[in-house]
Amino acid sequence: MKISDIGEFGFIDAIKENTLFQSKNIVIGIGDDGAVYKTTPGWEQVAVIDTMVQDSHFIIGRTATWHDVGYKAVASNLSDIAAMGAVPTHLVLSTALNPELDVADVEEMYRGIKDICRDFSVNIIGGDTVMSTSGVVITVSAFGEIEAGKALRRSGAQAGDVVAVSHTIGNSAGGLDVLLAGRDGYEALKKAHQYPYPQVELGRLLVAHHCHSLNDISDGLASESNEIAKASGADLVIDRDAVPTSTELQAWSKETGKDIWKFVFNGGEDYELVFTMAPDDFRALQEEYPAVTQIGTVRAGEGRVFLRHDGQETLLAPTGWTHF
Ligand code: ADP
Ligand code: MG
Repeated sequence: MKISDIGEFGFIDAIKENTLFQSKNIVIGIGDDGAVYKTTPGWEQVAVIDTMVQDSHFIIGRTATWHDVGYKAVASNLSDIAAMGAVPTHLVLSTALNPELDVADVEEMYRGIKDICRDFSVNIIGGDTVMSTSGVVITVSAFGEIEAGKALRRSGAQAGDVVAVSHTIGNSAGGLDVLLAGRDGYEALKKAHQYPYPQVELGRLLVAHHCHSLNDISDGLASESNEIAKASGADLVIDRDAVPTSTELQAWSKETGKDIWKFVFNGGEDYELVFTMAPDDFRALQEEYPAVTQIGTVRAGEGRVFLRHDGQETLLAPTGWTHF
């Protein structure tokens, strides 16, 4: 069955069940002109939005399935919420669908959307459905909340801070490379690309441990660390060999002869966190959450990032990294 067989309203009917996973603040969900929800007194609201375009952000059957497209469209939004230190609560979404599209495929996409929403207790409270003459476009806008005055910005890095990241970096770009090569195995890399896990729990711990500046890694570590440096008006010095990488990424770069640091610094879509905080606060954080690694330090400067390697410091450009 095609989308054109059931129409816009048939489609909305098909997806509107099981959309509330934490309904206590919901007054009106899907089914009216607008959704209505309550907010928590003393907390501020956070709004983010992200769009994914078929054949640009994902290629069905090659780099993605419909299930992971839905999951990832939500994951990138929850990652932005996590990068403010906030708790995600609700989302609205817009889907542009080709009439020739199989209903089963769109249902798979919604299964991915609902799976991650269930995991993070996020409500789907509305959306829009339009026709696309070519591929699918999915736009998700998520909302979250944070204790008033506590939002973690990019601009708070201070000289003397530790620079740190969560887990390992570069896996998503490695996974994309494996998928494009049509190579078997490397399941952890593929999973990192198709099912990135938003770091909401760590974002909340960073609020509790007085983190100074925070970004999620959606465009690669080079770009994200430069955003912190620029916004803060301080320099970040990153020790190249301190940046944690996974054994699978090391194996993939060895097998292909590709420079592992390209995946790490210019890859993107890791949805891990990069942050700076006072050394004592970082040690306290590490006791509670060991999967964080110091990769450098902040020093007074003009808002640039330097990469230290083999006793030398080179400028780390925000994009277009080509050599060391
Ligand atoms: P309106 O014409 O008032 O904008 P619609 O007919 O577009 O209403 O939508 C009806 C209801 O279904 C609304 O609650 C809307 O938020 C919801 N909705 C529409 N499209 C989607 C979608 N793709 N995903 C989730 N909810 C949707
Ligand atoms: Mg509408």
